[in-house]
Amino acid sequence: MMDCDLIVIGAGSGGVRAARTAAQSGARVVLVEGSAVGGTCVNLGCIPKKLYAYASHYATAFEEAAGFGWSHTGLAFDWKRLKDARRNEIVRLNGVYEAMLEAAGVRLVRGWARLAGGHEVLVETPGEPPRALTGVHVLVATGGAPAKPEFEGSQWAINSDEVFDLPRLPRRMAVVGGGYIASEFASIFNGLGAEVIQVHRGAQILRGFDSEVAAHVQKGLCARGVELLLDSKVQVLSRTAQGVAVRLIDGRVFEVDVVLNATGRRPRTDGLGLAEAGCDLDADGYVKVDAQHRSSLASVFAVGDACSRIHLTPLALAQASQVVDLLFGSGSQSADAERVVPTAVFTDPPLAAAGLTEEQARVRLPKGRVYTGEFRPLRHTLSGSPSRSLMKLVVDDASDRVVGLHAAGDDAPEIVQGFAVAMQAGATKRMFDRTIGIHPTAAEEFCTMRKVTRTWLSAGQPPLGGDE
Ligand code: FAD
Ligand code: NDP
Repeated sequence: MMDCDLIVIGAGSGGVRAARTAAQSGARVVLVEGSAVGGTCVNLGCIPKKLYAYASHYATAFEEAAGFGWSHTGLAFDWKRLKDARRNEIVRLNGVYEAMLEAAGVRLVRGWARLAGGHEVLVETPGEPPRALTGVHVLVATGGAPAKPEFEGSQWAINSDEVFDLPRLPRRMAVVGGGYIASEFASIFNGLGAEVIQVHRGAQILRGFDSEVAAHVQKGLCARGVELLLDSKVQVLSRTAQGVAVRLIDGRVFEVDVVLNATGRRPRTDGLGLAEAGCDLDADGYVKVDAQHRSSLASVFAVGDACSRIHLTPLALAQASQVVDLLFGSGSQSADAERVVPTAVFTDPPLAAAGLTEEQARVRLPKGRVYTGEFRPLRHTLSGSPSRSLMKLVVDDASDRVVGLHAAGDDAPEIVQGFAVAMQAGATKRMFDRTIGIHPTAAEEFCTMRKVTRTWLSAGQPPLGGDE
């Protein structure tokens, strides 16, 4: 007799969802966690990051308030108070998660787990002999960790795990990378008052997003004060009396207090005993899974950042629900391929998107059209801010379906989440046109786009021309 029906390794987004819902379905579940419950999202990712992003937005809010008649004096920012408030909130959330798991009947085991076979897991807790657990199924939900930088002197750089508890707010900061984490933290520390230099190897940040929309965000970040060094790479970091000297490959040298490296993440599958147990990993260490998230070992499943190249909490949650449905439910939940995956970058201005970029649509669809709207949001008519918003729809001509929806500007993530439902439901441009707007909002722009900005006829061909 096995100890339980399901052993879950890792109490992050995917692991907690799987353990809780499996237990609620009547399964006997053991959840093993070596660190704080809640994983990356709660402790070192989405939640603390968004709290810091809110903190950083107050800088512009105070500036803009003057346009609405407010005046204020004696503004000051206290980094320690923000850190303490964040820490208290995260501890509260850890408790909420633990209580939720207990209420569902999940047995939480503290320690680091390693697979010892298709049905066996060894748990090591410091100061105690390893414990063996057996389960009918095992779910690997161990998430990921920051990738190590390749440049010389990389020991002088910190990563995103270390950025939340910096002893002092840096006055000067270099951020290496042009993806989600680099752009979000460049924006956050810029908002909090640091002089930020973002160093990115490409010609534009946020590769993979619609390039027109990413360009809009890039322009907005620079307008807010982030100094962006494009087509640049760090060659070497060295310690100085005041901070860290950064030398770029083009020979430029500058000094900052802190260097944050954010050049990607890797799956946390090293030392897990997966390959030894017969569970295939790909060249980058991700667990290879099929559409049902089953690994090459029939009893072992994987979800979240340990197996997926799209590292987003809602995706880890959806995958966990899918596995639990397969093992302990009706097995009717759809595979990821059928899902629209909306996403947002919490920069200032923020970016949010669902579906295909214009670049992807041009390759995949023979004929389509693009609608764009760039405008000054009502708030900024008085705020004094030059900020503008950009919204964009990509439409497949053959079906009239909206296949891509993109927004850069105030409230973009909140707006796109709602429209993602329409896209998941297969809404056509005609349906968007028939939808009554809410006035005055920025979101109504998506329902009032009538003028085609560009069209394309077949893959790889240039646009047919400008406005029709
Ligand atoms: P994780 O949440 O990473 O959880 C894995 C857990 O497994 C951890 O608790 C770990 O301690 C534990 N573990 C690992 N190995 C073992 C072992 N051997 N034994 C026991 N326990 C183990 N996504 C969004 O959707 N929106 C955002 O705004 C967002 N912001 C982010 C900001 C940052 C700075 C980062 C780093 C990530 C962000 N993400 C965001 C991504 C999101 O956090 C991840 O996609 C998500 O947490 C993945 O969930 P997971 O369950 O796969 O893994
Ligand atoms: P990303 O993949 O988003 O970005 C990595 C960046 O580092 C890219 O700009 C990449 O450049 C650059 N890079 C990669 N390797 C090197 C190198 N050797 N030298 C110089 N630059 C390099 O990863 P992040 O670390 O920012 O985030 C990891 C994941 O976490 C994201 O993919 C995302 O899924 C998730 N996340 C989600 C958030 C959200 O939902 N808001 C927020 C934060 C993280 P290039 O573009 O040229 O490849």
